[in-house]
Amino acid sequence: MDNRFTAIMLGPPGAGKGTQAVRVAEKYEVPHISTGDILRDNVARETELGLKARSFMEGGDLVPDDLIIALIADRIEQGDADSGFLLDGFPRTLAQAVALEDLLREKEMPIEVVVLLDVNDDEIVRRISSRYLCRDCGRDANLGTGMITDVCPHCGGELYQREDDTAETVQNRLQVYRRQTAPLVEYYEGKNLLMKVDGIGSIDEISGRMFRDLEREWESGNG
Ligand SMILES: [Zn+2]
Repeated sequence: MDNRFTAIMLGPPGAGKGTQAVRVAEKYEVPHISTGDILRDNVARETELGLKARSFMEGGDLVPDDLIIALIADRIEQGDADSGFLLDGFPRTLAQAVALEDLLREKEMPIEVVVLLDVNDDEIVRRISSRYLCRDCGRDANLGTGMITDVCPHCGGELYQREDDTAETVQNRLQVYRRQTAPLVEYYEGKNLLMKVDGIGSIDEISGRMFRDLEREWESGNG
């Protein structure tokens, strides 16, 4: 193992994965590569890949795996990823994981650790169905604090609840997630890359736990 930090962040919707991913990327000084962000960025800049992706999105179709892989390859080639990267939102399926592995083998940057934020279904349903979002800044008003306020604690904006954030739709989303992710978890477990982190608690508690485990993993890997 070299000293590059190449990692993937997995976790169910509502587990606070994005927030934790930002913290990990900051701590290890690597770019946080979110597939949502690179898609939006390429579409906005009207790059060749972005235009292709847009044609799928406009048709209401999922952007195919090979296009996402090409976008990730392009992103990794930008200089800031020389010391590593943290992938967020990809891979979601086993097929994507295999395609990613092929790409990273070519780049000689294999994945060193896969962090799985572990939160049980009841807790996810509870969190999402009690979630209030800000109309102004788009942030989650009670994220991590569990506090319910009348206005956005970040900017004072008006709060609302997403219509599809009901217990039933959340349960459906979770089922899809579990079905897709179970083989992925098994795959990375088999490669001895999976690091499960208990995702219950405040944002600080969870990142503290995660950093402690990552350091231990890192020391044993490097030592
Ligand atoms: Zn706000």
